[in-house]
Amino acid sequence: MNITYSIIAPIFNEIDNLPELYRRIKEVMDGSGETWELILVDDGSTDGSTERIRELAQADKSVRPVIFARNFGHQVAITAGWDFARGDAIIIIDADLQDPPEVILDLAEKWKEGYEVVYAVRGEREGESWFKLWTASLFYRLIYRITDVKIPVDTGDFRLMDRKVVDVLKQMKERHRFPRGMSAWVGFKQVGVTYKRAARLAGVTKYPFKKMIRLAINAITGFSYFPLQVATYFGFFSAGISILAIPVVIYMRMTGSGAFFGQATTLIAVLFLGGVQLISLGVLGEYIGRLYDEAKGRPLYIVREAPEEK
Ligand code: UDP
Ligand code: MG
Repeated sequence: MNITYSIIAPIFNEIDNLPELYRRIKEVMDGSGETWELILVDDGSTDGSTERIRELAQADKSVRPVIFARNFGHQVAITAGWDFARGDAIIIIDADLQDPPEVILDLAEKWKEGYEVVYAVRGEREGESWFKLWTASLFYRLIYRITDVKIPVDTGDFRLMDRKVVDVLKQMKERHRFPRGMSAWVGFKQVGVTYKRAARLAGVTKYPFKKMIRLAINAITGFSYFPLQVATYFGFFSAGISILAIPVVIYMRMTGSGAFFGQATTLIAVLFLGGVQLISLGVLGEYIGRLYDEAKGRPLYIVREAPEEK
């Protein structure tokens, strides 16, 4: 069967959102008059979402479950969705209904105009704390500035991509992934559509601060060498200062006014530079750790149950 739309929703403990997610997607997609499938990727849920997904799939053949052996993370769940999607257009959507399924039709309209990546830009956002809004805004702007790819700001993973784009993304096997960066990196004809991001229907966010930091580090290391270069810049800067300081110190010594260069100054300089060196080592470590992960070449995810046909 030829399928027009594949909708991918990563699920991590979203039991109370699943029925409504299915209901709204079905309503919208049936209304489109085209064929569709809903790929529910269970990312190691422990709250019974898995059972609920199986039930949905049993009742409706348009629902295709991909069930992970454990939690592999949101980004990897999206990737598994790409692997199993059969449609001509592939849509990624959050399962908590923060991304209204109705917006899919707006994205599809742009796709029909010939755009190959249609990303949904968060205009207003409802029901999120000022801390989340502030850190998210900072995150998008930081990534925009220091990565080499122009990743659109205020844009999450909610987007529609043409089959040819997803076929390219499937060849990108990197482990620490940042799908929205990857989909900007590939090029093609891209356009944004602004929407109003709703509040979470039920449950709590699965992105605590720690996971947000990890995502930010993945985005930065995946698309930029900037952190590595900072060490170089800083090295030149402090070497420059010390070269300038040498004649000053000699002059002070000779004129006998160098008394203020005491132990405290030395201690501060040593501790400061020691700190900078350790941080630079840590940055190196982040990149080397990632290299090591790539070298091991383990599978990106392990499925317990998946549809036969990829
Ligand atoms: N998610 C996932 N695996 C994880 C964390 C999150 O599949 O380890 C899913 C989650 O179920 C939801 C989507 O990713 O469908 C976005 O997560 P969430 O709504 O918690 O993030 P937020 O909107 O708060 O940034
Ligand atoms: Mg959410």
